Amino acid sequence: MTISSDSSVIGLGMPRIPRARNVLKDTPVDGPKRVLLAAPRGYCAGVDRAVVAVEKALELYGAPVYVRKQIVHNVHVVSELEKQGAIFVDEVDEVPRGSHLVFSAHGVSPAVVNAAAARGLRAIDATCPLVTKVHREAVRFARDDFEILLIGHEGHEEVEGTAGEAPEHTTLVGSPDEADTIVVRNPEKVVWLSQTTLSVDETMETVKRLRARFPLLQDPPSDDICYATQNRQVAIKKIAEASDLVLVVGSANSSNSVRLVEVALEYGARAAYRVDFASEVKQEWLDGVATVGVTSGASVPEELVTELLRDLAGAGFGDVQEVKTAEEDLLFSLPKELRKDLAGNNDARALGGRVTRVE
Ligand code: SF4
Repeated sequence: MTISSDSSVIGLGMPRIPRARNVLKDTPVDGPKRVLLAAPRGYCAGVDRAVVAVEKALELYGAPVYVRKQIVHNVHVVSELEKQGAIFVDEVDEVPRGSHLVFSAHGVSPAVVNAAAARGLRAIDATCPLVTKVHREAVRFARDDFEILLIGHEGHEEVEGTAGEAPEHTTLVGSPDEADTIVVRNPEKVVWLSQTTLSVDETMETVKRLRARFPLLQDPPSDDICYATQNRQVAIKKIAEASDLVLVVGSANSSNSVRLVEVALEYGARAAYRVDFASEVKQEWLDGVATVGVTSGASVPEELVTELLRDLAGAGFGDVQEVKTAEEDLLFSLPKELRKDLAGNNDARALGGRVTRVE
């Protein structure tokens, strides 16, 4: 089946999930067919926490529970939560007074927090702790009167949230080229921070060019690009060169998923595409392909990868070899607002991380 390119562009409340199966043909190629399956892939600890937070809020308080923006950038996840009673909105003024409102994993600015409080909303903050860490850095550097050069993509919710912590002190740097032209107040007091889901290599190029202009540029106290983004990029780099085709499962507005396509191409994949669903894979992508690399972004549930592997098996790619470059066992505690209301609940997940507790 053919899916128009519009199918990956969704609006809040309008996820489009294809119902039809894709039947891919098993066409002959030189040599054996195989899949190289990147690991780690899929859900990170921050996405898991945010999705479970909405589910627990629905269980505890009943539907509807409102969520500002997509809880995570994945069309399937949003759709599934909508079915359970979540209502996704763009802004707090769309939420009835007194309702429960979950802030998404990408974080919010203090202005949004204040607007929710002024409206009497019962907020549950599902901001990923690793995004909160960057917010804290922004507050601290602004307090010390640094100019913050925030490397990230204009309009991304995470960037809006981080910049909103210190709007007077923040300048957005969207690309290495922009590093060559931005103007700062005092070149002796500048620091760079970044969005958590960028390409590591491109960010380092931006920093190099910033430092060439501002030699006293300070680094963040620790990596802002998070462990999950980095691990998924390392894994795809490992398999890209051996892949005739790389398929990345992830949504169009998922920054880390889009970066995986770019990284795969940069590291030698002959072709790379992002798909929300297996049904978007086109037969012609598989022409002459013996090795398919497969990965998924940090907001993608594994069932979507399983669906893709099933369709690929039907096209003769039943030999799946996992290539693992790191182990991940991080699990974040749920937002404190939920933990308070879940006290006494004997659901182990409610009260914190089972593997590695970081809060
Ligand atoms: S991608 Fe990284 S920063 Fe974003 S939610 Fe996952 S762990 Fe947190």
